[in-house]
Amino acid sequence: MTPAAQNLSRALLPETPSNGRVYNFSAGPAVMPESVLEQLREELLDCRRGGIGLLELSHRGALYEALNNEAEAACRKAAGVGSDYAVFFMPGGATVQFGLLPLNFLGENDTAAYIDTSIWSYKAYTEALRCRPVTVAFDGRALKYARVPKKGEFTEPAGAKYLLYCQNNTVEGTTFWAPPETGLPLIGDATSDIFSRPWDFSKHAMVLAAGQKNLGASGASLVIARKDFIESATPRLPQILRFADHAAAGSRLNTPPTFAVRVIGLMAEWTLSVGGPAAIAQNNAYKAGLIWDAVDNSGGFYSWPAEKWCRSHLNICFRTPKPELDAKFVAEAETHGMFGLLGHREAGGMRASIYNAFPTNGCRILADFMGEFAKKNG
Ligand code: PMP
Repeated sequence: MTPAAQNLSRALLPETPSNGRVYNFSAGPAVMPESVLEQLREELLDCRRGGIGLLELSHRGALYEALNNEAEAACRKAAGVGSDYAVFFMPGGATVQFGLLPLNFLGENDTAAYIDTSIWSYKAYTEALRCRPVTVAFDGRALKYARVPKKGEFTEPAGAKYLLYCQNNTVEGTTFWAPPETGLPLIGDATSDIFSRPWDFSKHAMVLAAGQKNLGASGASLVIARKDFIESATPRLPQILRFADHAAAGSRLNTPPTFAVRVIGLMAEWTLSVGGPAAIAQNNAYKAGLIWDAVDNSGGFYSWPAEKWCRSHLNICFRTPKPELDAKFVAEAETHGMFGLLGHREAGGMRASIYNAFPTNGCRILADFMGEFAKKNG
């Protein structure tokens, strides 16, 4: 371990979960910092000593308004965007956003393009296809989702209203290391990598991220979008489906998911308090390296199709030579206090999801366990 990584990991996170808690490798909803959970516990009963609990606050009251504005401000700071971008929250997860994109931006004769690198970008594509004849700009399915496109390795249909890609592929264990270069308005799905690394939001017309991973609770999504882009949406939509109306209403067009918004705010503030995306990225690289090294040093016992240059630092996937051994691995890991390692149902194998709040020590323990398990079962 480099001295820098050691200092960073100590400063950032508790090394072990507190009493009764386990190492939670769940892909989402996922582990949160205990300091955030403790603050929420306190606020549930009495928020900022006003005598009213967080879940009981009117969304039109001054206190909730302050919490909402603080959440927006922390997200804006973590994203590093200027006043030409709107930062706001919408009810529901990423799949809701996938459905809203064609409704907002695609008129009857319009199209959009999708870089398909994962089951999630494929879902975004097939949802849009129900409304409009959108196209696949890069066919990752044909490559068994083993990698993302290399520079320029995708098509850009002339006049397409947007190009969507998934920044980190939660199920497949691959990631983009930079936003694709394009002349089209670019939309990033950042659900599994938001605030995990410095990211150039200004290259995007919109970045969307569901809660549940680096943003904490599910139930709301963060949207960071160029104002002129969302305002270009058709006005012939109910307001509740229109991004620009949510932004204009300060994330309170109707009764918002107040709890989820508060959690997103606290998670963004925690992100900033531990050094922001740049410090977190270093720590994530170190944590991921421990587990990917255990895959690479297993003499072929563990494997995964993801190409090395685009391996994710947040979702580390691997399998043993046999599905029976995978099941044994997951069961035995639980007896060592490691939970949530079963891979996605479509991908199989194992998946260690180690988002920003996942303790470094859990990665060390998993890597050691992988070595022992390979020795015994190889
Ligand atoms: N995109 C990505 C990258 C995801 O990881 C997920 C969920 N794991 C989704 C979209 C779907 O999110 P939701 O369940 O909030 O619709």
